[in-house]
Amino acid sequence: MTDLSRAYAALLDAEDPIASLRDAFVNDDPELIYLDGNSLGRLPKATTERVARVVREEWGADLIRSWDHWVDLPARAGDLIGEALLGAAAGQVAVSDSTTVNLYKLAVAALDARPDRTVIVTDDDNFPTDRYVLEGLAAQRGLELRVVRTDIDKGLDLDVLRDAVGEDTALVSLSHVAYRSGALLDMAAVNEIVHGAGALVLWDLCHSAGAVPVRLDATGADLAIGCTYKYLGGGPGAPAFLYVRQELQRRLRQPIWGWFGQRDQFAMGPSYDPVPGIDRFLVGTPAVLGIAAVEEGVRLLAEAGIERLRAKGVALTGYVIDLAREWLPELDLATPADPERRGSHVSLRHPEAWRLTQALIAAKVIPDYRTPERLRLGPAPISTSFTDVWDGLDRLRRIVADRSYEGFSSEPSRVT
Ligand SMILES: *Cc1c(COP(=O)(O)O)cnc(C)c1O
Repeated sequence: MTDLSRAYAALLDAEDPIASLRDAFVNDDPELIYLDGNSLGRLPKATTERVARVVREEWGADLIRSWDHWVDLPARAGDLIGEALLGAAAGQVAVSDSTTVNLYKLAVAALDARPDRTVIVTDDDNFPTDRYVLEGLAAQRGLELRVVRTDIDKGLDLDVLRDAVGEDTALVSLSHVAYRSGALLDMAAVNEIVHGAGALVLWDLCHSAGAVPVRLDATGADLAIGCTYKYLGGGPGAPAFLYVRQELQRRLRQPIWGWFGQRDQFAMGPSYDPVPGIDRFLVGTPAVLGIAAVEEGVRLLAEAGIERLRAKGVALTGYVIDLAREWLPELDLATPADPERRGSHVSLRHPEAWRLTQALIAAKVIPDYRTPERLRLGPAPISTSFTDVWDGLDRLRRIVADRSYEGFSSEPSRVT
């Protein structure tokens, strides 16, 4: 049985080898418990200084001359992410555009590489923007979007996927960690199923990058995309990353023929002739301030090390589950109980999850709400302590016990 005392949480913190990194983040309100690091990561202190320097010195003083080094930022930040977090050797990851736009670019490139095939496979629990982009592509090209059924708490069953993928399949696009339940897919097994059918696989890593070790090269993944404002701590709207396996780069062509993908860009030549490497998946002028912030966030994750982040993520989510089981029997676990099968967040189901979410925020605990009836707790391993988890769940059990959540509106708000 779990030791339920707060002193035990403090002991876990004392034994945590990456505990000190929590202080590398801005934390103005010691009362605030932040359990939403998987939606918007905390601000690293170093980012404030780095962005100020880029603005004041590189932009303010050096002006256009800074493009000499700014021009390499998408690939440099990409290599840092790839090597520290994605199991990707240099030259395969770049930072550009948003996750949604990168999904579109890489999905089109994959479909063009399988011109005789007519089916795109995804699952009904994939993140909305992924499903919409794929739905749009299927509609524009007269393809079939085959949406397989998923248990929203347990995640996708690989036998169901196997049955859905065949000789007609051009592309399979899935999330590595499910945004709602945190269910974690076996990347190697999925890649094998997809490649067995001769199709290409495109992974969404938004909820795994920076939390779960990803082995893109070793598992033979073809393509991947992901956000940098969640676990990577790049800040709101920071540009996303994309991965294209080395041996595919020359063969794939993305649909937006922008000048940042062009060979000998400043020759301003008459027609599009993309570079052979990862830069051919870039489009236009990179978002310098955003990428500078991404570098600072990723540097901290690299310092922690992805294996230690994963070990702490398993321990933190296990602790959430243990405390919830003891203190909150009215809330059902809506996340795989097996740590091997979940990422770094936990969802709990309760019919009043939305009112519980609002009551928690009023009590200075920040979770988020996900339909239907789910309270999602994302203790980012780099910036969350075991005591944070204890305090957050302690406040939640009080709210449940005194039913103070009943004083909050059941009307949803614009952003949840
Ligand atoms: C957050 C998230 C996105 C968001 O995409 P944007 O283009 O940044 O809005 C996409 N996919 C998944 C799985 C996400 O969790």
